[in-house]
Amino acid sequence: MNSNKMIIVFYGELSTKGKNIMDFIRLLGKNIKESLKDFNLTYDIKKDHIYIHLQNENVTEITQRLKKVPGILSFSIATKVDKDMDEIKKEADRQYKEISPSTFKIDCKRVDKEFPLHSDDINRQVGGHILKNNPDSKVDVHHPELLLHITIREEGCYIYGYKIKGLGGYPLGVQGKCLSLLSGGIDSPVSLYLLMKRGIKVEAIHFMAPPYTSNMVIDKIKDLLSVLNDYQSSIRLYLVNFTELEKKIYKVAGPSYLVTIMRRMMMRISSIIAKRNNDLILATGESIGQVASQTLSSISVIDPTSSLAVIRPLATYDKTDIISLAQQIGTYEISIRPYEDCCTIFPIKDPVTHPDIKTVLKIEESFPYEEMIKQCVDSVAVLDIKRDEEEL
Ligand code: ATP
Ligand code: MG
Repeated sequence: MNSNKMIIVFYGELSTKGKNIMDFIRLLGKNIKESLKDFNLTYDIKKDHIYIHLQNENVTEITQRLKKVPGILSFSIATKVDKDMDEIKKEADRQYKEISPSTFKIDCKRVDKEFPLHSDDINRQVGGHILKNNPDSKVDVHHPELLLHITIREEGCYIYGYKIKGLGGYPLGVQGKCLSLLSGGIDSPVSLYLLMKRGIKVEAIHFMAPPYTSNMVIDKIKDLLSVLNDYQSSIRLYLVNFTELEKKIYKVAGPSYLVTIMRRMMMRISSIIAKRNNDLILATGESIGQVASQTLSSISVIDPTSSLAVIRPLATYDKTDIISLAQQIGTYEISIRPYEDCCTIFPIKDPVTHPDIKTVLKIEESFPYEEMIKQCVDSVAVLDIKRDEEEL
């Protein structure tokens, strides 16, 4: 038996998706169930909302989890009552008293056109009941503190107050898979978050240079992915040993072209690994102009080495906004741990902001990079970083 308490999940942008809409909604339903799988809940998946029926669960915990499911616009904790005006008034008054707002407004939607009263009549009757029962209550039709929703459907009447904001975006997986270059800095974890929020399932690739880079960097990458596991319960990580190739690049390119050539090699290696694993595109945490390798000139020299399309979710973001997002999602404190990644082990001097393609090609012709790339690809280590079920 279902209780009369439930959460109603709204999709927003999703409901504009023509003929694929039911696929989207089914996927969202599946992702919600996965995120709440340790609760014994029942679900009703409808065209413009999902009901999650509650018994006596910890609603705070459920709320925290739902806030991290991509594709949810908002959700509300609701009560279902019979389509009877006395019942409706009683429940509306109870919810009003629970919050005791300075002002309120009733917003009725009559989906069941058989119901004898019109929305406006219901608004007036229920509003009048609350005003009569609560001497301090005040209606504000423009900016009410509490907007109390009453939805009359065929099967009953749903009453709920606040809408809790969800992540927005699309259900994870609806867009296919992307291989994301994850450095352990502040930016790239945020770019993974933005991708997931948009419905893109992510895999991560990290370039390391042992023994120059410490194992602590790997722990840092794993910890970052554990935070991101809140949005995607399992994230595949490819670890590439870049030491020999990087040493060689440093030798042939020198300090000013080191980063440009390194990035070109990273793109080549990443696109091979992506193709092998059915990732449709690559992504980086680059932001235009932030450093020498991220000027438009640099990007135009680095990008063509990828045989897949490359997206840069943070391309137009300011650093301060990226930092705020990193703090909000909980990756910032991990990102600022001091361990060096492979990009900082050799001194970079006067990095070129406008790399000359002829110079780049000449450097690359001077060593057997294809052979070295093959070695990197063949020795890649694969780990699956999973949400810690123990903690749930
Ligand atoms: P981040 O904070 O993401 O490290 P950044 O501002 O430090 O970015 P760079 O170090 O120039 O900028 O790196 C730019 C992008 O290149 C990163 O966002 C990431 O996508 C990719 N990248 C850099 N280093 C690595 C690495 N060691 N492994 C995987 N990807 C990397
Ligand atoms: Mg970096």
